[in-house]
Parts: sequence; structure tokens; C-alpha cells
Amino acid sequence: MLSNPTARRRTLLAAAAAAAGAMVAPLSLAGRALAATPKVYLDPGHGGTDPGAVGNGLQEKALTLAIALQTRDILLANYSVDIRMSRTTDITRELAYRTSDANAWGANLFVSIHINSGGGTGFESYRYTTASSGSVNLHNALHPQVLSAMRTVGTVTDRGKKTANFYVLRETNMPAVLTENLFIDTLADANLLKRADFITAVARGHAQGIANYLGLTSTPPTYSTIVDNATAGRFTASGNWGTSSYSSQRYGADYRFADPVLASDAAWFKVSIPQTGNYRVEVRYPADAGYNSSTPHVIVTASGNQTVNVDQRSNGGTWRSLGTFNLAAGDRDLVGVSRWTSAAGYVVADAVRVTRV
Ligand SMILES: [Zn+2]
Repeated sequence: MLSNPTARRRTLLAAAAAAAGAMVAPLSLAGRALAATPKVYLDPGHGGTDPGAVGNGLQEKALTLAIALQTRDILLANYSVDIRMSRTTDITRELAYRTSDANAWGANLFVSIHINSGGGTGFESYRYTTASSGSVNLHNALHPQVLSAMRTVGTVTDRGKKTANFYVLRETNMPAVLTENLFIDTLADANLLKRADFITAVARGHAQGIANYLGLTSTPPTYSTIVDNATAGRFTASGNWGTSSYSSQRYGADYRFADPVLASDAAWFKVSIPQTGNYRVEVRYPADAGYNSSTPHVIVTASGNQTVNVDQRSNGGTWRSLGTFNLAAGDRDLVGVSRWTSAAGYVVADAVRVTRV
């Protein structure tokens, strides 16, 4: 793709401004970290109709996506960060989309993940030819972490930190680095790329490098909270929901129940999530042979609603996991018990427990 002189001038001006402000950089970095959750943009190279490089039975687009998704998950599980990705599935994205999306979102950093080809071996990474000091710092933080993580699995040559006039490095307005994670057309490299433990190590290296650049410290999974149907201000249900203390398996004094109907009319548990991250969501309900065999539970995750159906005829009176979900920070109606099921019997809402994992 041709270079864009206007955008290039803008990048150079930004680099000059960053250099001029270098003396106050530590203050402003600390201020940013305190003021807002850092925004990390991950760009898995290629996708959709563009497979990227291919070789030894591997496609670059699949490897970059696997690495990026795991990098996201590791970051979200361990740190307070916001993540946005140019793609989370096998879809086509133009280069212009990737950079303008990151710019519009206001990302604090941009990492593009690729696999090399053309003969050679090892790991190398790139920043723009006239990169900002922020890009240099990100580059210095990221490169050694990825390399050392790779070397926990196999022998990897360090091809070094390089510069290039790559589109995604030139057109991004924030510190940006592109990684080339081994050579898909070199057998020894491909054999590493075929290993799940190697892909996870590459992701761990990216996550650690990003965390180091941002100065993040790990947030241990200590948070857990329970919301009962009687918890003040944290449970809402329409008048169609009855209240009962019939079953001894109830949590707290009572629980709520309703007939199934082909409309949602959900009862909602409102839960405060302290930090964006991964949480285990559990429900507790009294079971009865006459209750519903497929009660929909709606979980409001960071990437949209997910529904898990629960058989409420058995396993009552104990915490039952609906799964682990990525939840956004904030206080909101988080778990809904829906009446919208074609199965017979009361749907029951009693309590939820949410625990950081
Ligand atoms: Zn590529």
C-alpha cells in the first residue's frame, strides 16, 4: 500500500511532540495509569480471504488469531486493562480499518501479530522507521519478553529489534510494534508453531511485555460476591414472579418463581464488578421435580449477552457454575433468569455468586 504523506507528517509531528515532552513523561504516564484503565489494541495479522503466509500445513491468519486471543485472555485474567481487537474471528480486515479503528478508540498501544516467511528462522519485531519514544519503549519492553517466553519451549534465534515503514506502524497514532513470530516456511519453526504450548508461551510473552510497558501489576483473584433475591437494590422482577419459602434448599429466606412463557420477563441480579476481567458466575436455586428443565440464564458479558440453560429439577441447594465469563467493570444487571422457555415447570431465581478467577 502507498504511503500517505499527510498521515506520515502527523506521525512525525507526534513523535517530535513526544520527544519534546520527554522530561514530564514519567508524570504523565503515572497520571494516565491512575486516570483510566489502559486501552490495549491487539491486531492479529491477515484473516478471512487473506491467509497471510502459508507453509508446512499452517496458515498465518490462524496462528496470529490464536496468539492474539490468548494474549487478550491472559491480560484480562491478570490485569485491569481494556482490550480491543481488529478481529476476533476469521474475517477480512483492510489495513486502513485496523489503524483507524485503533485511532478512533484512542488506544494507548497497538501490537500487530504476524508470522514470518521467505526463508529464515527465529523471532524479530518492528517499530516505525522514525518511531515515537513511546514506540521505542514498547518495543524494548515487548521484544525480550516474547523471546524469553518462546525459549521456555524451544530453541529460538533472536533476529533482533528492527525498524520498517509498515502501514500499521506508520498510520497508528499511538506506540506501535509489530511482531514476526518465527517462519512458517521453515520446518523447525513450523514444528514449534504447531505446538499448543508454544502458542500459549508466545501469548504469555506478549501479555507480559505489554504489562511491563504499562507498568501494570497483577490483580489477584480475590473478589467474590453473592446477590440474593432479597438483597436490597440488587434484584428486580415483575409482578408475575411469585415469592416462596416452600423448599428447604432455598438460599436466604425465600426465592422467586414464575411460569414459563414465550416472552423474556427476566428477573435480574445486579452485580458490581470491580475490574474488567474473567469471573466465574454461579447460581443457586432450590430444585424440584416439577421445576423447569431448561431455565435460560442470561449473562451480560463484556462482549455481549450469553445464555446458559439450567435444569432446575436437580442439583438444588448448592452453587452451580454457569461458566467463566469476561465481564466489564461496573455495576449493572448482570445475570437474568428468563421465563422464555418452551419447557414446562416454574423457573426459579434465588441467588448468584460471582468470583474473580
Ligand atoms: Zn503477516
